[in-house]
Amino acid sequence: MMAQFLEIKSEYPDALLFYRMGDFYEMFFDDAVSAAEALDIALTKRGKHAGEDIPMCGVPHHAAEGYFLTLIRKGFRVAVCEQLESPAEAKKRGYKAVVKRGVVRLVTPGTLTEDSLLNARQHNYLAAYCGIRDQGALAWVDISTGAFHVMEASRLRLSPELARLAPKELLVISEDEGDFLELGSDLGVAITPLARSAFDSSASENRLKSLLNVSTLDAFGTFSRAELGAMGALVEYIDLTQKGKLPLLQTPVRESAGGTMQIDAATRRNLEITHAMSGGRAGSLLATVDRTVTAGGARLLEKRLSSPSMDLNLLQARHDAVSYLVENLSLRENLRDILRAVPDMDRGLSRIALERGGPRDLAAIRNGLTQAENLTQCLPQDMPGVLAEATNALPGHDELIDLLDNALIAEPPLLARDGGFIAPGYDQDLDEARTLRDEGRSVIAGLQAQYSEITGINALKVKHNNVLGYFIETPATHADKMLSAPLSETFIHRQTTANAVRFTTVALSELETKILNAGSNVLEIEKRLYSTLTSAILDRSDAIYQTTRGLAELDLAAGFADLACFENWARPTLTAGREFDITGGRHPVVEAALRQQGDTPFIANNCQFEASDGAAIWLLTGPNMSGKSTFLRQNALIALLAQAGSFVPATSAKLGLVSQLFSRVGASDDLARGRSTFMVEMVETAAILNQADDRAFVILDEIGRGTATWDGLSIAWATLEYLHETNKCRALFATHYHELTQLADTLQGVDNATVAVKEWEGDVIFLHEVHKGAADRSYGVQVARLAGLPSSVVERARVVLEQLEKSDREGGNTPKALIDDLPLFSAAPPPAPVAVKASPALERLSDIEPDSLSPREALDLIYELKKLN
Ligand code: ADP
Repeated sequence: MMAQFLEIKSEYPDALLFYRMGDFYEMFFDDAVSAAEALDIALTKRGKHAGEDIPMCGVPHHAAEGYFLTLIRKGFRVAVCEQLESPAEAKKRGYKAVVKRGVVRLVTPGTLTEDSLLNARQHNYLAAYCGIRDQGALAWVDISTGAFHVMEASRLRLSPELARLAPKELLVISEDEGDFLELGSDLGVAITPLARSAFDSSASENRLKSLLNVSTLDAFGTFSRAELGAMGALVEYIDLTQKGKLPLLQTPVRESAGGTMQIDAATRRNLEITHAMSGGRAGSLLATVDRTVTAGGARLLEKRLSSPSMDLNLLQARHDAVSYLVENLSLRENLRDILRAVPDMDRGLSRIALERGGPRDLAAIRNGLTQAENLTQCLPQDMPGVLAEATNALPGHDELIDLLDNALIAEPPLLARDGGFIAPGYDQDLDEARTLRDEGRSVIAGLQAQYSEITGINALKVKHNNVLGYFIETPATHADKMLSAPLSETFIHRQTTANAVRFTTVALSELETKILNAGSNVLEIEKRLYSTLTSAILDRSDAIYQTTRGLAELDLAAGFADLACFENWARPTLTAGREFDITGGRHPVVEAALRQQGDTPFIANNCQFEASDGAAIWLLTGPNMSGKSTFLRQNALIALLAQAGSFVPATSAKLGLVSQLFSRVGASDDLARGRSTFMVEMVETAAILNQADDRAFVILDEIGRGTATWDGLSIAWATLEYLHETNKCRALFATHYHELTQLADTLQGVDNATVAVKEWEGDVIFLHEVHKGAADRSYGVQVARLAGLPSSVVERARVVLEQLEKSDREGGNTPKALIDDLPLFSAAPPPAPVAVKASPALERLSDIEPDSLSPREALDLIYELKKLN
C-alpha cells in the first residue's frame, strides 16, 4: 500500500494527497505533518519507511468538504485519491492485492463546485493570464456556473481587471510566476504556475473546438493568440483538476476593455464596493443595495457593481426596466414572490455535468424551470426591452419539466447513492422491485410471529445489522432451549453476546437473499434512471442557461426597483457629455448606518459642476468630521450605481458617462506591504495622474497629509494643477490646506466648496451641508476637544494657534520665537472646579495611607466612611 501511495504521491508533489482508506482520507509523511497543523487534528504514526516512523493523520470522508475549505484558505491544494474498486474486487485479483486507487480530482480555490464551499451570492472565478511579447489576454471562467469570458489585457491593465473580477485563482506561465506573486498577495488571488505549453495558442484552439464541439471558433469572434492561449490554459487546467470530467462551459464571451468603467484595486477598496474595509460583505455598497431574492440575481448584482457599463443605450434600457417595475408595484411583488422559489440552477447544472450532482440538483432544475414557466404566464407582453428579452428566455422547457415532474418525488435526498428519489408509478420495473423488497420485509415480520410461536419465546425478535444481516435473537436465558433438539434443528447458532443468543434459519437466509437482490435491483434501476434524467437535462443545458440568465436579469431589475421605491431613489439621466449635476445626493451606506443607529438623519447635498470643456474640480475644505469624505464618496457611488443600471440615492442626477473612477485617501496604512504610508499615497496618486482621462471622475481625500506641512501642501497644490491642466477630469478634492483655496482664482475649472459648521459656545456643530465657498477655519482645536483631549492640551493648542495666526498676519516674529516665549501650559486654566459637593468621606479618604492600615483598621475605616457619607 505504501508503494502505491508513494507512486501516486510522486505525481502530485504540490498537493496534499487525501488517500482514501475505507471511511477515511489518510495523509502520510510531510502531507500529514502540514495537514495536521493546518487542520488542528492529531498527528499519529503508522508503520515504518526506511527505518523511520511514518507520520499519519486522517479525516472522515463524509466530513472532508469542510477540511478542503480550511486547507484551501490556508493556501494548500488537495489531490483526492479514491478507491477505484471494492476490497472484494481486489481480493479476486489475489489474496494480497491492494485496492486500486487513483486521483479523481484536484481541489483548488478556483475549481470548487460544492454549495457548502461556495458563497451562493458570489462568483467563483478561475482566471488565466497569457502574455505573448507585447500582447496580453485574460480569460476567466466560473466552473460552478459555466460563465466563460475573455479580454485583451496588457500587463498594465491586468491589476485593475483582476481587482474587478476578484478571481480566486490565476493561472500564469510558470517562468513568469515571480512577476505575479506580489499582485496575487495584494489581491488575495492564488497564483498557479502552468507549463508554457498549456498556453500554446494552436493547441488551445483545438482544445476549445473540442470542448465547444465546433469545427471552428469563428462564430464566437476572432481571437488573438494571447486570448486563445489564456482560454486554452483554463481548459487544460480544468481537465487536469477534474480528471477529464469537463464542466458545462458556456460559449466564451469577449469583453472589450473600453466597455466598462475602469476602477482600480485601491479605488474598489476605498469605496467599499463589494467588501467593507473590515474585509466582510457587511457594510459594503453591495450589501446595502442588494434586494435580490435569488442567488443568480445576487451574483449578477455583484458583477454589475464590479463592472459598471459604458454603453449608453444599454444603460438606458436597464433604467427603463427598473422604471417599469417601480411603477408596477403589484407586478413586481408577484414577480419577486415567484422568484423567491427559484433555486440555484446554475450551480446545480454544473454539478450535474461534473458528475458531482445528486437528485436534489435535478429537483432544483425542475423547480426552477417550473417557476420560470409560471413567470411567463404572469408577465405581460408589453414590457420594456430588457424585461421582455429576459422573459422570452424563460419558457420552452415543458417536456423536461414534465419528465422531471413525473420521475422525481417532491423532495428528493441529496445523494443518488441510497436511491429513494424516483416517484412511484414512473417506472414499472422499479415499482416491481420495490414491492418485492418491501414485501420481503413484511414476510420477515410474519416469520418472527411464526418462530415465536414454534419456540414459545415471546421475546424472540428478527433483527438486522450490517455484520450478520438478518438474524433471530432471543434473550440469553433461553439459550439452552434453543441450542438443544428439536429447536436446534431449525435454528442455526450464529453468535452469543452477554445478553442474547442469535440464530438464523434456512428460510430466513433465503428470504434475506431475495430482499437483498430486490434492494440492489432497486438501486440499480434508480441509478440508471438518474443518468437518463441527467442526460435529458444536459441536452438542454444551453437553453437552461438562457433561462437562468433571464431569471437573474428579472431579479436584479426588480431588486433595483424595490430599492428605488423604499429608499426614494431617482432615475439618473446619463449622457455622452461631461455633466455632473446631482441634487439631493446621499451616501447609501452612511445613510443606512445612521438610520440604524436612530441618530440624526442624513443631510442630502448637491454636487454640480459647470459643464465646460476643461476640468471641473471642486476643492472642498471644512473641519474634520464635517462630512467631506462622505460627500466625496457619495458622488463617486452615485456615478457607479447609475452605470450599474440602478437608480441613485438623489432627488435628481444628470451625469455624463464616467470612463474611469479613481478614489484616493491620504496616508492610509499599508504596513503589510512594507511601504511607508506616504509612499503608498504617492504611488496611488501617480497612478491617477498618469491614467485619468477627461471622462474620468476622481476623488482625492486629503492628499499630501502623509508628510510635513509644506511638503504636503506643495504636493497637493501641484497635483491639483496637474488634474486641472493635464487630466482635465471631473474631480472632488478635499483638503485641510486652506492655502489651496486661492487656486480657485487662477484656475478656471476650480471652484471652492465647504462643509458648513456652526460654532456655539466654543464648540463646533456639524451641519453636514456643502456650500460654495471656502471654509474660514479648520476648527481642529474644537474637534480635538470634542474627542476628549485633556483640557490643558486643548488650551495650549488654542494659544499656539493664536500665536501662529498672529505671526502670519503681522509677518513679524517667527512663530517659533513667539511660542518659545510662552511658558509651557501657562495658558492652561486651572482644572475646572469639580461640580460635585465636597464629600466628608472623600476628605477623610485623602488623609489615609492605605499601606499603613491593618486589615482590622481598614474594616473599621469602611464603617466610618459609610457613616460619613
Ligand atoms: P470628514 O471626512 O470631514 O472628516 P466624514 O465624511 O468622515 O468627515 O464624516 C464624519 C461623520 O459625519 C460620518 O461618520 C457621518 O456619521 C457623519 N456625516 C457625514 N456626512 C453626513 C451627512 N451628509 N449627513 C449626516 N451625517 C453625516
